[in-house]
Amino acid sequence: MMLNPVSRLPEKAQTLVARRIGELPCYQCDIAASNSVETVVEMLKKNLELPGVLLRQDGKFVGALSRLKIFEWLGRPYGVELFYKKPISNLYANLNVPDHIYPSDTYINIAVQRALNRPSEITYEPIIISFGKDDLRLLDINVLLLAQSAQLANANRIIEKQIEIGRVISSSLELPKVLALILEQMDSVIPYSRAAILLYRSGKMEFAASRGYPQDVDMEEARIMVNNNKVFNDIVVSKKASRVKDAALHQDWQHIPNTPPTRSWLGLPLVQDKDVLGMLSISRLTVSPFTSEEMDISAIFAGQASVALSNASLYEKVQSFNRELEDRVKERTRELQQAYAKLKLLDKNKSDFIKISSHEIKTPITVISGYMQMLALDNALEERHRELINNTNTGIERLKEIVNTMLDVARLDTKEMELEFKEVELEALITEIVAEFSQSMSERKIAFSIEEIKGLPTCKGDADALRKAFQHLIINAIKYTPDSGRITISGRLTGKDRGGKVIRPSMQITVTDSGIGIDPKDHELIFDKFYQTGKIMLHSSGKTKFKGGGTGLGLAVARGIVEAHGGQIWVESSGQDETTCPGSSFHVILPASSKLTARI
Ligand code: ADP
Repeated sequence: MMLNPVSRLPEKAQTLVARRIGELPCYQCDIAASNSVETVVEMLKKNLELPGVLLRQDGKFVGALSRLKIFEWLGRPYGVELFYKKPISNLYANLNVPDHIYPSDTYINIAVQRALNRPSEITYEPIIISFGKDDLRLLDINVLLLAQSAQLANANRIIEKQIEIGRVISSSLELPKVLALILEQMDSVIPYSRAAILLYRSGKMEFAASRGYPQDVDMEEARIMVNNNKVFNDIVVSKKASRVKDAALHQDWQHIPNTPPTRSWLGLPLVQDKDVLGMLSISRLTVSPFTSEEMDISAIFAGQASVALSNASLYEKVQSFNRELEDRVKERTRELQQAYAKLKLLDKNKSDFIKISSHEIKTPITVISGYMQMLALDNALEERHRELINNTNTGIERLKEIVNTMLDVARLDTKEMELEFKEVELEALITEIVAEFSQSMSERKIAFSIEEIKGLPTCKGDADALRKAFQHLIINAIKYTPDSGRITISGRLTGKDRGGKVIRPSMQITVTDSGIGIDPKDHELIFDKFYQTGKIMLHSSGKTKFKGGGTGLGLAVARGIVEAHGGQIWVESSGQDETTCPGSSFHVILPASSKLTARI
């Protein structure tokens, strides 16, 4: 008796490459073992797709014979004579081929491994698949190998898609673009009719990207349907994927109006750190349920959509933080500008005050000074009165100097100081100033030396103004150096400025003292008008006395004058200490006269 062979093809609408051997085309080809070899050969000739036959005796499986082996045996000398008319079981007994029965749910790659591990003479024999009790089918080994290579090709394809998506996710933060790409790439791995990525915001789903929906679909309507769909909501609550074999069988399935109805459906939650960000919805318009493998693969795409969504939300957070920051910076800048304008006004008021008050003081000083000179001419004056007049005159002179300094500051501030540029010999100028203070220095036992100034070129400048500038530096050096200290003035030619930048040939004059020094935090501030370090009350009075009182204007005048000459002034000192006296060095750079430029 011969059975009609039945082929077993994969389940309907198989969309992905098979993963288990039961999903591959295989054949139920049982025949009674009593059939002659000839009958079997005829049958095989008629059914070319059959890889062989499964022999049964009294309905029970006794062994399998492949097409390959049957024809190979018959091709041998005496093969036909010996077996052709005899029962096929005879041939089977002679061939002694071990049967390989694999359960239908065996993974294809495992089956391939096992099959190829068989002895070489039977490596390419078909495999018997068992679909349960007594349901055995033959699978051509070539079909198995092809299935495996299809599987590998598919895996490669998925990896390529993932890489492509990964590249876009990391290179672009344009969310719609990334989501659209995810849907597009998914289509080539998991065929679908339409798909959407929905965003879950304040308890509602919104379409973030969609593919395959009719052009004229009302997305607002779709949004409402989605939100009323129980299956969709269940996914948000359970955070688990869900599939619907046939939505037509679901009474409460919400269909989108004017859109072909969904039949098979797969929904996956988009989760990030336990939060549901949204959902990936995949629909087929025919009944072709999504397989578990398809679920696994779409989970990868869902994972990427989650990453894209959370990247975008982080990006949005950073952007809004930046916007906030920008607003704050703008506000602060506005405040600063207002404060700056206010300060500028205050500064102007201060300059105006200095200017007006010093002018006003100047007149009575001149009057007092005139009367004092008239009094001094009186020969009848007693010695003690003359002494009083002399002391008053000294005070008046000091007062004049202070007022003049105040006027200088005001003029420098308002750029009203008139400078008359001529060739100035710095050596002569400095020597003159030093001579002026030599008595004060010797009284205070301050050693003084001038080094390397001789022979320096002249500079173009206003001699009176430069004299004032150096006077302030030298007075300060005396004032802030304790008795028995040392002051040195040195000079050199230089082609570099304070910061080491190349400049036109210039002179650098340095006034160094062994005084109390200046705290680095005050190095810039001391050049501001009225800035004084330490406690003003502790100052003693007198122009050249140790820590003698001052107006806090000397350095402001010196800087104004030096800068008006296109020069620079700064101080170097390791710190202020009245016990160790680290000293200070004030540097002044003044451009050398252009006549001498060629020499340098
Ligand atoms: P002042 O009239 O107070 O001397 P200046 O503008 O000349 O005003 O100097 C500002 C401040 O800088 C001084 O009060 C002093 O604290 C500090 N200073 C200036 N020159 C020296 C120096 N050679 N050694 C130490 N401190 C100095």
